Amino acid sequence: MTTNLSERMNRLQPSATLAMSQKSSELKAQGIDIINMSVGEPDFNTPDHIKAAAIKAVEENYSRYSPVPGYPELRQAIVNKLKNENHVEYTPAQILCSNGAKQSVCNTIMALVGEGDEVIIPAPYWVSYPQMVLLADGTPVIVEAGIEQDFKITPEQLEAAITDKTRAVILCSPSNPTGSVYSKEELEGLKNVLLRHEKVIVIADEIYEHINYVGEHASMAQFPDIKDRVVVINGVSKAYAMTGWRIGFIAAPEWIVKACNKLQGQYTSGPCSVSQKAAEAAFAGDQKCVEEMRLAFERRKNLIVELARQIPGLEVSVPQGAFYLFPKCSSFFGKTDGNVTINNSTDLAMYLLETGHVATVGGDAFGSPECFRMSYATSDENIVEAMRRIKEALGKLR
Ligand code: PMP
Ligand code: GLU
Repeated sequence: MTTNLSERMNRLQPSATLAMSQKSSELKAQGIDIINMSVGEPDFNTPDHIKAAAIKAVEENYSRYSPVPGYPELRQAIVNKLKNENHVEYTPAQILCSNGAKQSVCNTIMALVGEGDEVIIPAPYWVSYPQMVLLADGTPVIVEAGIEQDFKITPEQLEAAITDKTRAVILCSPSNPTGSVYSKEELEGLKNVLLRHEKVIVIADEIYEHINYVGEHASMAQFPDIKDRVVVINGVSKAYAMTGWRIGFIAAPEWIVKACNKLQGQYTSGPCSVSQKAAEAAFAGDQKCVEEMRLAFERRKNLIVELARQIPGLEVSVPQGAFYLFPKCSSFFGKTDGNVTINNSTDLAMYLLETGHVATVGGDAFGSPECFRMSYATSDENIVEAMRRIKEALGKLR
């Protein structure tokens, strides 16, 4: 039988983070003791008060379709969160909830981007951004920010990348995969460039907002002179350890929310009713759990940085947020253990998996082939053992 997929499918790459996680699960199922640092998700359980809200929602028969953008109570809880935590004003009509922030980003790109449109994506980037732009027939324009500039783009780089075809720029702070955080002053510098280009929309992915080690989260939406061009992306996956519940949202100008609403209404409808009630409890409830998890991530960050610095050949930039370490590993390229030769970071990740039994993700998928990513959202014991294995495996390369 001939298999004839659309041209769109042929151009789409699989998610490298999910692929590596899948591979690690397969090896684990074969009985191999793999430490999985590939996929980025908190290892904590969802806090009890959130689970209780979901159980109550089941008992109260939240079992029917919700409004496409989410229940009004959830959207109101998000409006309150944005006001209290971020000091930005939105109305419930400016909020749209989706099946995870991943769908929120994709909806936004689908709503804004078409053939010939350019979307500026700073690299290293989260694996899915360029793929989503390609899915929308747009052109990703990659702006590189290496470890020497702390993986953050400058206003000059942004200005140089903007053309009359630029439709949007995607900023992610705290960043997946680098852990870099843009300060308010750095965001302001980028904003001043964008003020000169009034057609450009800012897609601000703030899903790691609460996993921040340097102070208060800064958001592009906090600058009143650009807020009407900002789409804030956020959700419950990371802050509340709720990756499986699949609730994300956009806070955006109403014309963008309306377009995403139309798209989502044809594509998936409103997100899971029970998960929405859980997310409402997350946003409206006690925030102590968020700080407890943040502190645990900070302790693990300190641990992994200390251990990574003891591995000859790795160059480490200290993450300011999120739960990833993104060391530069290009000093190993061209080296071999006598069996396998490491030519790039994907080879290195594969070598670490097969020889060291630690699952990581090569930097190629993040647009940064000189680095690789480790998620430290795992126990201290796993971090210590994984770094021991990585040190040993890399030590065999000549
Ligand atoms: N943005 C970034 C930068 C992420 O790392 C993730 C995690 N997969 C998402 C968005 C999507 O999160 P979710 O769909 O689980 O809400
Ligand atoms: N954001 C996580 C990661 O980057 C989850 C995987 C994904 O959705 O791609 O690992």
